[in-house]
Amino acid sequence: MSDRMFNQPSASAAPAADLSRRALLGAGGLAAGALGLAASAAPASAAAPAKAPAAGATYFLRNVRLETGYEREGDEVIATRTALATLKIEKGVIAAVLPAGAAIPPGAVVYDAGGLLMLPSFRDMHIHLDKTFYGGPWQAPRKRKGGIAGQIKLEQKLLPELLPTLEPRAEALVALLQGYGTTFARSQCNVDPVIGTKHVEKLKAALDRHQPDFGYEIVAFPQHGFASIGLEQQMRQAVRAGAAYVGGIDPTTVDGGMERSVDLMMQVALDEKAGVDIHIHEPGESGVAAISRITDITARNPALKDRVTISHGFSLMSLEKPALTDLAARMAAAGVSVASTVPFGGRMMPIPALQAAGVKVFTGTDSVIDHWSVFGSGDVLEKAKLACQLYGWSDEQAIGQALKIPTGGITPLSPRGEQQWPKAGDAADCVFVDAASSAEAVARLTPRQVVLHRGVVAAGGFKTARA
Ligand SMILES: [Zn+2]
Repeated sequence: MSDRMFNQPSASAAPAADLSRRALLGAGGLAAGALGLAASAAPASAAAPAKAPAAGATYFLRNVRLETGYEREGDEVIATRTALATLKIEKGVIAAVLPAGAAIPPGAVVYDAGGLLMLPSFRDMHIHLDKTFYGGPWQAPRKRKGGIAGQIKLEQKLLPELLPTLEPRAEALVALLQGYGTTFARSQCNVDPVIGTKHVEKLKAALDRHQPDFGYEIVAFPQHGFASIGLEQQMRQAVRAGAAYVGGIDPTTVDGGMERSVDLMMQVALDEKAGVDIHIHEPGESGVAAISRITDITARNPALKDRVTISHGFSLMSLEKPALTDLAARMAAAGVSVASTVPFGGRMMPIPALQAAGVKVFTGTDSVIDHWSVFGSGDVLEKAKLACQLYGWSDEQAIGQALKIPTGGITPLSPRGEQQWPKAGDAADCVFVDAASSAEAVARLTPRQVVLHRGVVAAGGFKTARA
């Protein structure tokens, strides 16, 4: 199990690491023993000597390959042009993008990216870091009895048993994500009558140990119900304990009444100055009605603009085009985003229509291995590839532009081929791959060799070079 525990895909391919991820096992207080792990099982990228620059250090990175434009034949994009550049990284920010061969001040710290293509790092915008089996023994989900009520009953027994190892499991999963190029996660985190706010407190402690090499925000997730079970005070406490978002759960089918459930969630978010991120799995009319009401309330409250997300939103699949176009336009205007795992099989999420209307569409892993599902890889780049396959995005331009799904909106080139990333002042959140273009990285899921968050190595490593 231990090889799986730190199964960072970058490890084997990473060059000798002078600029390397700090020793994970020592740094995080990771209770390796509790999981039956030996420290020596971690690959070089995770356990290399702590030579990485301190947060905020200034250094130069040369031989970085950047996308510079599209090559066209007539109107058709047939390839992506790239060029080498030198970057100056300062205080976690890309301070300057310089031409290849630009003069570097004597004595400066310099690393060599070896010609690897640099892409924006990824954001996993829907994952449950608090209730994963990852790092522990294999356990397939039990047959579901009694639908979601049965799962809630199971959690009432299971989560208290898992509580003592929440932190090492969450940290192991973070290490997996980092190896795949993800440097930011929005984690759902149970708040329920049995667990109270303990998951929020423990998850926050685990993630705070990963500063500055991993960014996060926590959603207080009322998996077992909100208004229907009188969870208001605990949800408020969860925000005060560190959750940045108030969550919710199927207002009609789980929480017993759409308007009461939605209104309470929105009110708690407004009172506590938090955002909103609600699980809406329920299909059809009741799901649409909830999304519509949430959108209306958001539009009336500027404090919530761009801070409200519908997770899953399967009911959007059932809308005919005119109704979908209308609702998507209202969502875009209010700043209501959608987080989708890009489900396949049966009907498809209308992701292209949402994007065309200006709705921000994020993706996430949801489950990697837990009592709901055991098929997650933790690699959100897969979601871009899957979207290409589902929606027929099959050429260089369309495949490359799909990268905005895992990056949360950023692509190196605009759809017209103008270079738009990186620019001086952008956060040094980057992933390095041996690929010709974004399109190749998406289509081939090219291994992630080095991952930076705020200029600090999160996985893999570079060789030093002389100025
Ligand atoms: Zn979820």
